Amino acid sequence: MPFFSHTSFADADSSYEDARYVLFGVPYDGTTSFRAGTRDGPRAIRDVSYNFETYIADIGIDLAGVPMADMGDIEPWCLPEDVVAQVRTAASQLHRDGKVPIMLGGEHSVTVGAVQALKPDAFVVADAHLDLRTEYGNTPFNHACVTRRVAEAGVDEVFIVGARSGTEEEYACARDLHLYSAGDVRSKGIGAVIDDITTAVDGRTVYLSIDADAIDCCLTPGLGTPEPFGITHWDVRDLVRALAPRAIGFDYVEVCPVDAGQTAAVAARIIRDFIASHWKATGTST
Ligand code: MN
Ligand code: MN
Repeated sequence: MPFFSHTSFADADSSYEDARYVLFGVPYDGTTSFRAGTRDGPRAIRDVSYNFETYIADIGIDLAGVPMADMGDIEPWCLPEDVVAQVRTAASQLHRDGKVPIMLGGEHSVTVGAVQALKPDAFVVADAHLDLRTEYGNTPFNHACVTRRVAEAGVDEVFIVGARSGTEEEYACARDLHLYSAGDVRSKGIGAVIDDITTAVDGRTVYLSIDADAIDCCLTPGLGTPEPFGITHWDVRDLVRALAPRAIGFDYVEVCPVDAGQTAAVAARIIRDFIASHWKATGTST
């Protein structure tokens, strides 16, 4: 098939039935507050995924041998609560079928539906923003409210890594959660933060959400809400590799491909690392 276009994530060529990992995109940016364009994130991530080797040497996994499928994109409705419901329906089906859902955003609001579907014990999010507002732009499903909605969804523990932006009320709310600011990561090192989190979630299920703006906008500027003084792509990769074995679902959101492609490249590569790390730890045994 010499003219087959790159419409799926690279190497996601298993059937749905055979796949352990199932990717889908949610090209939605309806509540975007600053720079629009995260609806183009899934396409940009898929495009650049073909840049990478199938073999990930330092994990020792060749993705060509890992059963993964890409179902394409959800066609999002207009209202964020409807999109959350669409995601919840899709993620519930994947979870029932024993798949690990991997969602490509789109803005961060989509994460709420996946967490409602998977009901993890713990939620770990990398984000520049606390996302703990009760509502924003006259909707509680705004992308600025994601972690607040998740915290209310029956998740036992919430861990926020890399934050450096929020209101005074949001910081007050964060006192009931586990907050590792970008400054904390810089001073303690990501290894110490990961040790804390992996100890706390031992034996529990985890949902892992990466908001691309956790990474310093000077490194990856393709963002809807860019924030400097962030953590690095190395930090996020370490976090993802460490938590992947415990994850029952994963998303990478808020890629707004208005840059030279570096933000989508980091996203695609970290998604590949998530799959390889999860597969290495769990293989065909679960
Ligand atoms: Mn966010
Ligand atoms: Mn953010």
